Amino acid sequence: MLSTLITPFILSQLPSQAPQVATLLQSHGACSLCVLRVLCVRKVSLFVASTASASATSTCPLCLGLLSRPSISAAVSKAADLFSTSATRGAANFVVAVRVPVQLALRARAADLIIDHAGLGAEIRKVAERDPKRFDLENPDPSQLDALAKDKQTILTDPHDNLPFSITQSQIEVKEVLRFIMAHEFAQASNLAFLPSSELQLELGFDHPPTGDEFEWMQSIEKCGLTVRKKRKRVREGSVWRKMKDDEPKSIRIEGATWNHIVNAANALSYQEFVDHGYLPTKFREVSSPCDLSDLKFLHKSLWVAGRYNKYSRGVSNSRMEFKGERLAAESVEELIAASLDPFFHADNHKFASAGREDVDVLMLGSGRPFYMEIVNPRVLDATQEEITEVQSKINESNAGKIKITDLQLIPKNDTKPLKDSAATKRKSYSTLVRLSKGVRMAQLEEISKLKDLELKQQTPVRVMQSRSDKERDKIVHELKVYPENEGSLGEDGERLYDLIRVDLTTSAGTYVKEFCHSDGGRTVPSIKELLGVDSAVVETLDVLHVFLDWPKPVV
Ligand SMILES: [Zn+2]
Repeated sequence: MLSTLITPFILSQLPSQAPQVATLLQSHGACSLCVLRVLCVRKVSLFVASTASASATSTCPLCLGLLSRPSISAAVSKAADLFSTSATRGAANFVVAVRVPVQLALRARAADLIIDHAGLGAEIRKVAERDPKRFDLENPDPSQLDALAKDKQTILTDPHDNLPFSITQSQIEVKEVLRFIMAHEFAQASNLAFLPSSELQLELGFDHPPTGDEFEWMQSIEKCGLTVRKKRKRVREGSVWRKMKDDEPKSIRIEGATWNHIVNAANALSYQEFVDHGYLPTKFREVSSPCDLSDLKFLHKSLWVAGRYNKYSRGVSNSRMEFKGERLAAESVEELIAASLDPFFHADNHKFASAGREDVDVLMLGSGRPFYMEIVNPRVLDATQEEITEVQSKINESNAGKIKITDLQLIPKNDTKPLKDSAATKRKSYSTLVRLSKGVRMAQLEEISKLKDLELKQQTPVRVMQSRSDKERDKIVHELKVYPENEGSLGEDGERLYDLIRVDLTTSAGTYVKEFCHSDGGRTVPSIKELLGVDSAVVETLDVLHVFLDWPKPVV
């Protein structure tokens, strides 16, 4: 029977008992692809051409029907449909990831035990001992699919059809054969190239509910060391979490039953123990239906978009902020940008990061604050700068008076580093409007305007103590310019006294500027209040003038 699957040349490379192993496996219902992979034969043209299932009505107990032609054809056509409808623009290549049911590990062990029990195991295992260098590499670049090949495998050419094949050093797993086939057939269906390093991943997940818990009997045998725990998943609804119900899909999470758990447990058992527990030969054979394709998606690695933002409204926060389920501001810079950027990229989601952040009531003026947006699972992969600039215009037009974006551009992931690294080093300039409890003289304002590199001791502000540890920090006010903002009033000696002042300052990273003005009940020393000798200095407005970080590069 084996001679109908493979050519005489491949047969000649296999152990002499290979035909008996093939017959034995087929008598247990194995499909032809499972026979080939157990015999360590890797030949893409065989995998792809094979109609696999011995008969259309039975399901192979080794692969649970995963390698059957109907199952593969259905998966390829569903993947092709999804690809064409999900509009991935600019994709040139792809890679495949496959998840298979863990019970296949138990079934692989059962097949091994069947072969051993028939006295054929020793001969077959010799494949694993052979020197991989025994064969000459006749075809150094047989096909791109062979990039999947493992290092130690030697590729041969079958003189019958001049196509490459290899005898691997150990059984080929179902998952690997499936990846081979999907890579080959989806490449044809989609016109994309298969590329192991591709950023676009076709993900397929298969389940087989009828045998989903068939490994649990091993829990009763101590030497198996298997403990399976089933936990009901929880989902978030609004701001509350609840347990999922029985009739919801995927409501149970199984712990302690990974592929390796099952392999280790099954390896501890003998053929006789499989028989004693009723798994061999009957239960193993009783498979009435093939696996379901339960997960199918395309996942592309993130793209990164950088820019600078100005904020002209005191009602917009930096990112979406909630406290006990209540929004702190109706809108955020993050959301206003994402509202145009996410749909443009047809992205699943985004992650926003900026060089520091300002409070809701603080404006971001000057050249703006650097930020980047990680675009999660984008479906537009080839955006041009012109298109990105169009998105920028759209954001700016629909948010006039609130925010303005500049220098919006795609950047490589590595280029996000300067922004991440800047947290501890960047200086910032601010402008604040401060109301004093009593008027002060011009000479006083001029005096403190001469201060350079003023050292501050800042105890964590009362307003952020809930989220920050309470400790003293050393900060620096590099430059300070203080001047009147109104005409003031005449004092008793005829000199003008000013009680509304503008404080412009440049500080080290992380300085709490409001606290530097009003002193936070003496927790910041010195402060404008203390320097001017007034009872109170109330911050009316605070704006950021400049974030000292030349990033990203200007878009010309
Ligand atoms: Zn099979």
